[in-house]
Amino acid sequence: MSRHLLGLRELSAAQIQQLLDSSQAYANGERPAGALTGRTIITLFYEPSTRTEISFELAAKRAGADVVRCDVQRSSIQKGESLVDTVQTLEALGADAIVIRHPMAGAPKVASRSVRCAVINAGDGMHEHPTQGLLDLLTVRQRKARIAGLKVAIVGDVLHSRVARSALWGFTKLGATVTLVGPPTLLPRLPFQSHDSPLDQVDLVDQVDPVDQHRRPISVTMTSSLEEGLQGADVVIALRMQVERQQHGYVPSIAEYTRSYAITARTLAYARPDALLMHPGPMNLGVEISADAAYGPHSVIQAQVANGVAVRMATLWWCLSTEEGRKRETRGTRERGTIHDRHLPVISSVSEASNAELSLRAERSNLAPSQEIASARRRVSQ
Ligand code: ASP
Repeated sequence: MSRHLLGLRELSAAQIQQLLDSSQAYANGERPAGALTGRTIITLFYEPSTRTEISFELAAKRAGADVVRCDVQRSSIQKGESLVDTVQTLEALGADAIVIRHPMAGAPKVASRSVRCAVINAGDGMHEHPTQGLLDLLTVRQRKARIAGLKVAIVGDVLHSRVARSALWGFTKLGATVTLVGPPTLLPRLPFQSHDSPLDQVDLVDQVDPVDQHRRPISVTMTSSLEEGLQGADVVIALRMQVERQQHGYVPSIAEYTRSYAITARTLAYARPDALLMHPGPMNLGVEISADAAYGPHSVIQAQVANGVAVRMATLWWCLSTEEGRKRETRGTRERGTIHDRHLPVISSVSEASNAELSLRAERSNLAPSQEIASARRRVSQ
């Protein structure tokens, strides 16, 4: 079986380190030795993207793979084809890996249960964006030579941010401490702990100790004071206001939000003098970040973008270089056979996946974002 990358939550610290080490090697100019020659990568983006989609394509090409973009706007998805049918079709066409971005939390997981090829999450709703988390970690590790012991402040619309969730898992698994900073309405109402933890009722601004899936406690602080949150921070991650996911007014006005939470050259002074400033992009200049900060001496935002290619190369290699993948590679692409003789372990029934998909849709239309997170968390932790 190929290996999926659905989230950093599922990975161990050792696996994350391994991915960062190979990313660093590729950033230094090495290439995965013949790894992806003859393999087919298909990108399937239901949401817009510049950095992520292009860097996956460049990564695949530089590693020798064939890469094809499935244009959702011009595909049979517009005729009502389901996610499961679409990914099974792409696999039947020869995909070894499908890179999915989807507005629904859990969509890549649904896809991964209906195909044998690798599924890579390129951002799913408010859930995770694991390759963004990896490139954030790599960028920090290149400049600070470590992650353990650093203080990371994640500022802004944390509630709707998959970037924040992946960063949270990645940084804490490698020993950093994380502070989430934002107005109470844009901080998660529930901490990021597993849903069966007894901490569900914890107060917004309390120190909480969520527990990761391996039951190790991780330390996360939340505060609505920018000054307090940035105090002593080695890394400041400014988040975009995710207006497309906000279902009602979370802040009195954008101007008011900017006055209290924008990262500017002035507010960055609350952090350490050698603090790094990061942003996943695209930036709303003058909203969550000012030009003097974004293009100032602390900013490593362009380095984050550049690291995206190396990280995605490492991810593709990690997903496709499993024992089974290597056997398939030696057999050659043409001999792999059709969907019928490959004995697809289709999930117990296609309707199960369709139901999951429907409930994801229902979730979006009927539930509050915090409920979406909670139910996505339930499903994803299955
Ligand atoms: N590009 C990142 C994402 O797709 C961050 C953002 O859109 O704000 O999640």
